[in-house]
Order: sequence, then C-alpha cells, then structure tokens
Amino acid sequence: MRPVRELARLLLPVACPCGELDVPWCARCADLLAGSFVRVEHGAPRLDRLDGVPPVPVWALTPYAGPVRDVVVHWKDRGRTDLDRLLAPALRRAVARLAPALPRARPVAVVPVPSTGAARRARGREPVAVLARAVAAGLRDGGAPARVVPALVRTGHGRDQVGLGARARGRNLTGSVRMTRRGARALGQRSMCILVDDVLTTGATLAAVERALERRGHDVLGATVLAATPAPGHTARIARHVPTG
Ligand SMILES: [Zn+2]
Repeated sequence: MRPVRELARLLLPVACPCGELDVPWCARCADLLAGSFVRVEHGAPRLDRLDGVPPVPVWALTPYAGPVRDVVVHWKDRGRTDLDRLLAPALRRAVARLAPALPRARPVAVVPVPSTGAARRARGREPVAVLARAVAAGLRDGGAPARVVPALVRTGHGRDQVGLGARARGRNLTGSVRMTRRGARALGQRSMCILVDDVLTTGATLAAVERALERRGHDVLGATVLAATPAPGHTARIARHVPTG
C-alpha cells in the first residue's frame, strides 16, 4: 500500500508557484525574499505628497517581478495559504533588522492596509493581516514594542482595483479609507504607525492610508511591503535584486 503522503501528492501535487515540482516553495524563490529591505518610495508616483514633505519611507523585500509575482498571486488569490510560512518569516526577519533604526519614543502601531470587501470575500481572509502580525513580531524581535491595530476599513467609494490603470486607481482610492471607531480608540493619541501592505504599485493606497492616519494626528513612520513594482526610471535601483545566472 502506498504511504498516505504519496497518495495525497498524487491528488494534490506539490509545487512552488514558480513551477518547481515537489516542494511547496523552492530555494530560489525563498532566496529572492531572504534579503534586507530596500527603500522604494521614490518609485511610487502616487506617494508624492505635492506639499514639499518627502514621501513616506517604504521598505520592500524584493521587486514584484518574475517568480516573486507568482508566489504573491498564488498566496493571495489561489488558496496557497501555506505560503504564509514562507512570507511571514521572511518579512519578520527583515523587520527585526530594521527595528533598531526606528525611534523608540512610543510603542509602534502596526496598521494593515485594508482590503476591499469584495477582495476579502473572494479570498475568505485578509492576507495582509498575516503580514501585519509578522511585522509586529519582527519589531518586537528587534527591541521595539509593537502591536497590530487594524484601524482602517475601505469605504464603499473605492471599487476593487483589479483591471484599473494607475490613474484610475488613484482616483478610485481618493477618500476610500476611513478609520473605524474601534480603530480610533485602539490607536489613542498620536500613535507612531507603521503601515503594512503586500505589494507597492503606485502608492495610491498607502497615500490614502497615510492621510487617514495623519488627519487624526498620528505619525506615520513608514510602510513595509513584501514587494514593489519596478517603476520606470528606477530599474537600476531594483535591478540589484535580480539574481544573475
Ligand atoms: Zn520557486
């Protein structure tokens, strides 16, 4: 009789999202996520505040390209929740290395960027919540007191971003994030916040979240993301990540 594990494999073949068979994720994909953070805010046009204040720092593990894109898509939208065990520890380790550089005045509130209701219903969960917990754990590993505060929700104005161009995304998101009463209570007065999202594209979502927090008097220290879309003109910065050979 075949071992149960082998039978299960026949029914549900194991493969890394990049296509490598017989492993839930391969060494190459794990490697792409294993580095330290790179600052990517200057590649995100919608983070430009137009008020002379520099854009909020955004730290990304890797460019959103190649196999990393496959990993993120399978994790978010194709039911590969087992990839939590790849992505969350990778983020946690990078955050722990970043933590000592952060101001220590107050505990950090880790604020996940909220999904649209439609995305949450389609996925049956909020993948960014997994990342937010990893970021808070990484901050604590690095000696910075931190807790997750899911303070924000999308309002009805913003429709799902899928299929919208960069410009439409920006318009779509204007005013589409608001703080819940519970979130406001949990944040209290003048919290130091770190935002968490999965992928940085134009920065429109992060900008809306930053505004929602700043309007209430909170300080946004920066944002952490798994990956950032390589922006035109910033290919050289991003190219450092792409392995050769
Ligand atoms: Zn792979």
